[in-house]
Amino acid sequence: MERLWNYIGGRRAETEKYLDNVEPATGEVYAYVPDSGLDEARSAVDAAVAAFETWSKTPAHERAQWLYRMADAIETDFEAFAQAESRDTGKPIALARRMDIPRAIANLRFFAGAVLHTQSESYTTDSPRAVNYVVRRPVGPAACISPWNLPLYLFTWKVAPALAAGCTVVAKPSELAPYTAWMWGKVCENIGLPPGVFNIVHGLGAKAGAPLVQDPRVKAVSFTGGAATGALIQQYARFKKTSLELGGKNPAVVFADCDYPTALAQTVRSSFANQGQICLCTSRLLVEKSIFERFCADFVAEARELSPADPSLETTRFGALISQAHWEKVAGAVERARAEGGTVLTGGERIRLTGRCKNGFFYPPTVVVGLGPETQTNQEEIFGPVATIQPFEDENDAVRLANAVDYGLAATVWTRDASRAHRVAASIDAGVVWVNCWLLRDLRTPFGGMKNSGVGREGGNEALRFFCETQNVCIALDP
Ligand code: NAD
Repeated sequence: MERLWNYIGGRRAETEKYLDNVEPATGEVYAYVPDSGLDEARSAVDAAVAAFETWSKTPAHERAQWLYRMADAIETDFEAFAQAESRDTGKPIALARRMDIPRAIANLRFFAGAVLHTQSESYTTDSPRAVNYVVRRPVGPAACISPWNLPLYLFTWKVAPALAAGCTVVAKPSELAPYTAWMWGKVCENIGLPPGVFNIVHGLGAKAGAPLVQDPRVKAVSFTGGAATGALIQQYARFKKTSLELGGKNPAVVFADCDYPTALAQTVRSSFANQGQICLCTSRLLVEKSIFERFCADFVAEARELSPADPSLETTRFGALISQAHWEKVAGAVERARAEGGTVLTGGERIRLTGRCKNGFFYPPTVVVGLGPETQTNQEEIFGPVATIQPFEDENDAVRLANAVDYGLAATVWTRDASRAHRVAASIDAGVVWVNCWLLRDLRTPFGGMKNSGVGREGGNEALRFFCETQNVCIALDP
């Protein structure tokens, strides 16, 4: 069976112990992942510290060239990356081809270009006369920790701006979906990236991730994952620069004046893409009362079209959940919804496929009605294919329900009334609001959550600046 390795100091580094890497669609172990700990984390940080002096002074256009080479190499091996991402996560191969791998490549190319187009501010002072200019320099070795749902997409989203900005990186992908990160390590080896610039440590969060965050030589921590882990990371990081991209309980607000067919189709997509395992998925659908019954019926009919199937098939639109534990968590959440008095309109039971996937972790799109905003079902992130639908009376009621959670990552608003769209967007506490669209991304825009959904913003200049220390230099003009 294949054994993955850590990529530390430009070399393959084995560990004593390994974890099982399970294929979610079959429930079978198909590779072993390093079970790294303090020693591996420390040697990765040693390597990143040793490489920092040279990398941080490497001209930006040369750093950009390394990122372009990585992107080109991943593109050359596009199909292998897509197959690996699908197998490792249970996501449909079509989705890995359409979204995960193209976006990972785009992240690398975007930050390679972006770092060549940064700007800085200057301020002239008139009395006494002086000029101030702002300098940004790479903050130091950075730790990047990412989750399993969009593995290479989110890993590149963090690591690319760090490297572009001139930081060296110690990074830990999720132990549940480590494969494409490992393949990226092989790419770095093949293209001859200078040793220590980018180091990948595999393993469990508490054992392999925590020591990366806690190491005093690491100066910035970029984390994406659950809110409970985010709270721990914030404690470990103490005074380091910290960016936390956490969970969501995102509303889709559907007004009666929307373009109904588009709103319906896109809300099905925003609720169930990647089996509902995207932090930006809408899990609370808020629908104006006058169209509530019609919307519920149509939404359920569309959801039933998405039957779980083998993710490796070209035609599959809905795959497996990431792990047995997550499968049980999602099933438990639906049981809790029933216990809270909810009515399950479709789904609501685990599914067993036949053949190759007979032991896979499949759960169908599930729709629940009859629950108020205070229920745990409408408060806690499930991170699976479970959506609730609640009716609202008017605009104020819609905003009240949209904001009735501790999270504030994303929201979608469906209306043809432009004034209402602006008003509602401005009233919703979410870092990202999509009006009449979902998941439409421009990599220059700030990305991140309000409330318990995170601290800080990624994307564009925000990401490049995060990995820099800012200094103001003030020069007296008439000394
Ligand atoms: P998680 O918090 O369990 O793990 C995320 C990463 O942190 C993994 O690599 C894990 O090994 C590591 N980790 C866990 N405990 C750690 C510790 N004590 N110290 C250091 N590292 C530790 O999250 P997950 O289950 O992998 O991902 C799902 C969560 O991620 C959901 O809540 C989802 O909403 C969120 N998410 C957020 C975004 C966003 O951009 N806001 C994007 C994707 C996923």
